[in-house]
Amino acid sequence: VRMGGCAHCPIRCHSQLKVPQLEKYGMDPYVSNTCVGWSGPRGVMAAGGGIKEFDGNGADSSVVGNAIGTTMVDDLGVWCNYGQIGRDVKWFFEKGVFKRVLPAEEYASIPWDLLLKGDARFLIDFYDRVAHKKGELWHIADGSAWIARRWGLGDDYWDDKNNKLWTRGGYPVHHSNEAGAQVGALVSCFSNRDAQNHSHMNFIGSKLPINIQKEIAGEIFGSPDALDAPMDYKPMNEYKARFVKYALVRGRLHDSLTLCNWMWPMAVSPLKERKYRGDTSLEAQFFSAVTGIVKTEAELDKDAERVVTLLRALTVRSMGTADMRNAHDAMNKWIYTPDKKEGKEIPQFTKGTIQMEKSDLDLGLGMVYKQFGWDEKTGAPTKATLEALGLKDVAEELGAKGLLPA
Ligand code: SF4
Repeated sequence: VRMGGCAHCPIRCHSQLKVPQLEKYGMDPYVSNTCVGWSGPRGVMAAGGGIKEFDGNGADSSVVGNAIGTTMVDDLGVWCNYGQIGRDVKWFFEKGVFKRVLPAEEYASIPWDLLLKGDARFLIDFYDRVAHKKGELWHIADGSAWIARRWGLGDDYWDDKNNKLWTRGGYPVHHSNEAGAQVGALVSCFSNRDAQNHSHMNFIGSKLPINIQKEIAGEIFGSPDALDAPMDYKPMNEYKARFVKYALVRGRLHDSLTLCNWMWPMAVSPLKERKYRGDTSLEAQFFSAVTGIVKTEAELDKDAERVVTLLRALTVRSMGTADMRNAHDAMNKWIYTPDKKEGKEIPQFTKGTIQMEKSDLDLGLGMVYKQFGWDEKTGAPTKATLEALGLKDVAEELGAKGLLPA
């Protein structure tokens, strides 16, 4: 095992493994990935209780099975929808969906016995069918939104907490309500895939004591109330909306600069002599130094804000509706359904629960729309905002299609 990663990055977050047993399966023994690149592909085995000892691999079975999954998706170009493919397989298997939608002959040809025995050779068969578009099964790779239509899945699919599906767009949690309460929850509503945003998570995950995190949040977002202590959530406020905007803007900025949003922005520091304060202007400093185009932090953020709003406008155009609040951003019910303890509901905003409240989330969406200058009712960019961002042509096209908010 060695750690590797992107050029010049000191973090080295990619595990690089040599797994000689892979050659038994006709695979290269070297395999490398990070995060869900490792855990997502093997998630398919969860339907049978996970990978167990198989094919004489003994105590190495877990590593070998994991490496088989990662190699298969890497070589065949399958994206696991941030781990959703495993949850989908489990749900469809347990609820009898596969039995209902797959032709009998195809169903009988799938080696379910391997899945149930925890034999990771199931992954070789499964990903081959998916990547090479075999039979009906491969449509699982269309993603949750499309298979829900194709296979007639209803509210029980979307509203199952174990499925972790965030909106009916068909993408799952990714540093959502467990990450900064409404901040993570609302960040998760604005992409057209899982949020893949770590701007807020890097801050929250810094492991600094919560009182220092709140102090720094106060300096950046205007009030320490921008950040709640873990598992001790408070209702929505404007400072959390500012935090959401910061996370979305910096996420798009990093995508545009090809800077790693796993680590950036540098809102905090491990150094005591800096009083644990980071420097959120570093991107602008580097951009200015490298390009010779001098930008302040606010100017660079404005550029990224234009990207966020342009993506929003493209989404409005693609979906053919300005009603983003209901058509795009509406969160699934499990997110705001109270947990229960000993049969009794735990009210939201009770210490120990991270369940959200619908009216509070609706309020939060409006607050975030306002931060971006979008229509607070629908969440669509307004003509005035598009024009102010230099996107007059976009405003004209949306206007011609009747997709600007009233
Ligand atoms: S740049 Fe990001 S993804 Fe690449 S090695 Fe560093 S932390 Fe990992």
